[in-house]
Amino acid sequence: MIYHPEKYSIADKRMAPFIDSGEIWNFINNTKADKQRVRDVIGASLDKKRLSLEETAVLINATDPGLVEEIKEGARMLKEKVYGERIVLFAPLYVGDLCTNNCQYCGFRASNKGVRRITLSREELIAETRALIDQGHKRLILVYGEHPKYSAGFIAETVEIVYGVKHKNGEIRRVNINAAPFDIPGFRTIKDAGIGTFQIFQETYHEPTYKKVHLGGIKRNYEWRLTSLDRAQEAGIDDVGIGALFGLYDWRFEVMGLVRHVNHFEAVYNVGPHTISFPRIQNAMSLDIDKSRLVKDDEFVRLVSILRLAVPYTGMILTAREPSHIRDQILRFGVSQIDGGTNLELGGYSKGKHDQQDLSKGQFQINDNRSLGEIMDELIKSGYIPSFCTACYRLGRTGEHFMEFSVPGFIKRYCTPNALLTLAEYLEDYGGEETKKAGYRLIDDKIKELGQEQKVAKLKEKIGQIKSGKRDLYF
Ligand code: SAM
Ligand code: SF4
Repeated sequence: MIYHPEKYSIADKRMAPFIDSGEIWNFINNTKADKQRVRDVIGASLDKKRLSLEETAVLINATDPGLVEEIKEGARMLKEKVYGERIVLFAPLYVGDLCTNNCQYCGFRASNKGVRRITLSREELIAETRALIDQGHKRLILVYGEHPKYSAGFIAETVEIVYGVKHKNGEIRRVNINAAPFDIPGFRTIKDAGIGTFQIFQETYHEPTYKKVHLGGIKRNYEWRLTSLDRAQEAGIDDVGIGALFGLYDWRFEVMGLVRHVNHFEAVYNVGPHTISFPRIQNAMSLDIDKSRLVKDDEFVRLVSILRLAVPYTGMILTAREPSHIRDQILRFGVSQIDGGTNLELGGYSKGKHDQQDLSKGQFQINDNRSLGEIMDELIKSGYIPSFCTACYRLGRTGEHFMEFSVPGFIKRYCTPNALLTLAEYLEDYGGEETKKAGYRLIDDKIKELGQEQKVAKLKEKIGQIKSGKRDLYF
């Protein structure tokens, strides 16, 4: 967590200026978006080609309502073609909200004296994990403020505590992290605890804005943050998650920044980031930002569709910051992961429901208060396959999105059957009568769609084993 310039890797030094704001603005200001060009770019994306910055600018500059609809339709088709109907579920678990930074948009910022500061004890962390297992969760993202207390060793220890909780039939099988940037040895310590993805959001790729909204602490250093996931890669963490906080600067610039960041990873490490997040700023305690850049709903749908088309192989995460009607709409345009039953209050899961709007008890306001069970019911009803699968990462098939898309038939042979197995587990352990009926109906339908795939017999056998009490089966 401490800034050690001497521990910057060679790649950091070489690659640090990969965001060139002049270049990005040049593409935005000078790229034409006539009908044919927009259609050509959508076509390239549907051929599963990652778009260049210029091609992304074509989509950004297409403002004609008819073309915007074509972009949305393209994103929908791409999602269907590449990802199918699986939606992966997870929950955030806030471990500690101490923070030495002063990010203007965040309720946890150091200058915010009204927020309660809590770091979960071992017992509290175990209680939170049990409560999440009781909901049916298998994948968590642990979240921390930036503070000397939250060293790499501390984070590794909390990961180990969470993995160590066995409760009834369940346990957490994948722990992802959202925390401050580390140096390479720090990332290595955390990797050794067996984490999945390490997420760090750049917040804004526009350096002057970055400086304006990050008023104090280590996080003020734009470059230290921009190169953080390069250090993670060098420490051996090959599943990394990038993101921008929409509402700080022009959304068109941030979309270009995210695409440039993906290109950077592909060029240097031969594999893009595992996921992209695109949170919109929500209300937070004593929120103090310039509201002129807030992203409207129609712009948000547009930007998610453009991102989907621009980076066809990157997973996209949509959180409970957004209200359910926006989540349901955006799900169709390429989102692959959502959280469910989210509670941002530290220690909140084990206390049961709480008032999500009490801003003194969380980092920001969330707008989707549905329980995991309610979300599962709605996904099943809409024909999505809710998935808690963690197989690839546990079998060492990391850079898994790469597997999914580069190995022909991988989704049919592995992802869909594994999603169905985790759904069956959920139905057995956490599903009510109605959920079970609808869930098994969905499983039967999806098995039929797998056709003569040789895995089908084995899949049916494993589902039978789950019904008679076996757990954690996967291909
Ligand atoms: N302290 C770590 C850091 O800054 O990287 C962890 C990050 S924070 C707990 C997770 C993310 O929440 C931030 O990176 C930021 O993008 C987002 N966030 C902060 N304030 C927000 C707000 N008011 N509304 C929506 N998202 C917010
Ligand atoms: Fe601290 Fe992260 Fe909030 Fe910034 S966004 S104040 S670093 S918790």
